[in-house]
Amino acid sequence: MAYLPILYQIQETEKKYRSFEKRIKELPTQTNKNSLELLKSDLEALLETVKDRRKTISNRQKSLDLDVASCIAKLTKEEEKLYQGFGHNPRELEKIQQKVSEYRKQKEKLEEEVLKLMEADETSDAEEQSLTNRYAQTEEELWLVQQEIQDQIMELQFLKEEARMELLDLARQIPREWLDKYRKLGKKHQGIALARVVNQTCGVCHITLSDASLSAVKRGEDKLFYCENCGRILYY
Ligand SMILES: [Zn+2]
Repeated sequence: MAYLPILYQIQETEKKYRSFEKRIKELPTQTNKNSLELLKSDLEALLETVKDRRKTISNRQKSLDLDVASCIAKLTKEEEKLYQGFGHNPRELEKIQQKVSEYRKQKEKLEEEVLKLMEADETSDAEEQSLTNRYAQTEEELWLVQQEIQDQIMELQFLKEEARMELLDLARQIPREWLDKYRKLGKKHQGIALARVVNQTCGVCHITLSDASLSAVKRGEDKLFYCENCGRILYY
């Protein structure tokens, strides 16, 4: 029975197995999951800021409403005094008129601020809306990416398991001492214990093989021949 082709198959299947393992490990970091997560937390912070600003505006609006109401009350009181002919005394009358004009100015100023606040609140409201939409969109994208990663990992785990079963099956077909030699060499050579002969050279280290080595390997006997340079098992 030719053991070398089976050993070579083991090496190739192990390579696949390792690549599946590597991809399973790397998948979550290679996608745009991280950047989406960053964006999501940035949007969250921005939303928080806008909400705080709206709260401040709303509080100021409430206190302004009270100021306006109290100003109007004072103004009305003074105006009533005027109409009711209060203070026939010209000095008193002048004083009342002064107060009326003062309260009117104050009212105007307060109302101006009310308008400005309304505008600011409208802007913040639009900003909050747009941030909320973007946040929801990012969350959905993130969910999709996570879903996709999960699917791919499941698929890779299935392939990995398939490779593992294949390796068990292949290992059963090889004598123990061959496997031991293969494993020992593999440890020394990053898992590549076998080298194919390519155009009379070692397929891994690329040294030109001696004629003696070549003809021995080409006979295809179940004996192990090693590359004179890198020490790997040669396989034709
Ligand atoms: Zn070599």
